Amino acid sequence: MSMLKKRQREIQFLILLTFALLMLRAALVHAAEGKLTYTVEYYANGGAAAPDRQVKVSGKKKEVFRLSMQRPYRDRYLFRGWNTKKDGSGVTYQPGRMITVKRSRRKARLYAKWEKKHIPEDDIPASSQMEVHFIDVGQGDATLILCDGEAMLVDACNPVNVEAVQGYLDLKGVTKLRYVIATHPHTDHIGGMPGIITNYDIDTFFMPSVSVATPIYENVIQAAKDRNLQITSPVPGQTYALGQAFFQIVSTGKLYKNSSTYEDSINDCSICIRLDHGENRYLLVGDAGKEAELDMMKTGYSLSADVYKAAHHASASGSVEAFLDAVSPEYSVISCGAGNIFGYPHARVLNLFRKKGIKVFRTDEQGTIVSVSDGKEITWNLSPSFSWAVGIKKRASAVRQFVLNTKTMIFHTPECRYVKSIPKKNRKDVKAKSTDLILEGYRVCNGCIPAAGEG
Ligand SMILES: [Zn+2]
Ligand SMILES: [Zn+2]
Repeated sequence: MSMLKKRQREIQFLILLTFALLMLRAALVHAAEGKLTYTVEYYANGGAAAPDRQVKVSGKKKEVFRLSMQRPYRDRYLFRGWNTKKDGSGVTYQPGRMITVKRSRRKARLYAKWEKKHIPEDDIPASSQMEVHFIDVGQGDATLILCDGEAMLVDACNPVNVEAVQGYLDLKGVTKLRYVIATHPHTDHIGGMPGIITNYDIDTFFMPSVSVATPIYENVIQAAKDRNLQITSPVPGQTYALGQAFFQIVSTGKLYKNSSTYEDSINDCSICIRLDHGENRYLLVGDAGKEAELDMMKTGYSLSADVYKAAHHASASGSVEAFLDAVSPEYSVISCGAGNIFGYPHARVLNLFRKKGIKVFRTDEQGTIVSVSDGKEITWNLSPSFSWAVGIKKRASAVRQFVLNTKTMIFHTPECRYVKSIPKKNRKDVKAKSTDLILEGYRVCNGCIPAAGEG
């Protein structure tokens, strides 16, 4: 064999080897790319879908989606108002559910390029701001959300503290509420609702379709009737816009097959929402308990949030670890009354928050908590609490004789010196547990301290 031929063979071999190596590399890269996953959230087109910010595109097959609204959020992509049935892309999903799609890195790159061209980097204008006010209302809940000139109220505390809520709304110049949510018909959440319904203009009033036999609940129904206000029972998955923010209904007890077996059906029927403003998320879950939390995880709605309003005033009934892991919050806000007789916040919940490094704000210690989102960062009106002080439960009260003042909503022992001065029309003698009276919105008398006397 001539030197020349040998040389030619060598070159051929080198070319082949290079080619083979390139093929191998491509195969390896391809294998790695196949594992890239993107989680995509689809929103049902129920409620308001922020049509002012619609972007319409149609793409090829599965990698580019027909969508009406999208916004990259961390490693997820949010899609709203997308209807697979119309575009026939063949991906089946239930509206409002979260699904995962796989895309190759090359396609992802192409998509990112397309995205850069078509979608503004941050589709929340720099001027947009959302404020979440966790109002100090003693034992109960009242959260005011303000975004771009629109207002929304979630719950309205015990009747005795209604002045605190209305005073706060007035202070903030709120006269019109785009949404009001009564998470569930317990008195510490709807006590102030009749006044809110009467004194403010409400666009949409949400309350779950469970009824209770309490005077306060009847007052809410009556007040709504008087003002011709329709009661909307929300549908899980629906999204509603509030300024540049939007919220999704992630739970109401009606969603689940086993809701009739809920141990604490009223609390577990709480309307739960995830509120999104740019990259920031808040999860408000009313008084939902363990069963509702576990069911919520099965729905597939995204629960991850930066701020988690502790379920049921941080009682032991909620905030189970698996749920908390799904939410994975940086902050938690606890709304409960200073020295409340129920023992909120509970040690198990506080310990869990502490273990997971969650920063805690508490209305019982710190008063009203204000959280502000600019779409990227969240700021607070004060520093987190580091007391980790647990609530002390007063001994379960026995049924006793009490005297109620139905006007001042204060209750007394029959021996109390103030009982004599209660006008006849406001006086009511009852046999009841002091804890139940407090749940109904009554306050203990400072003179006789009927509840503390039992603890
Ligand atoms: Zn409550
Ligand atoms: Zn409740």
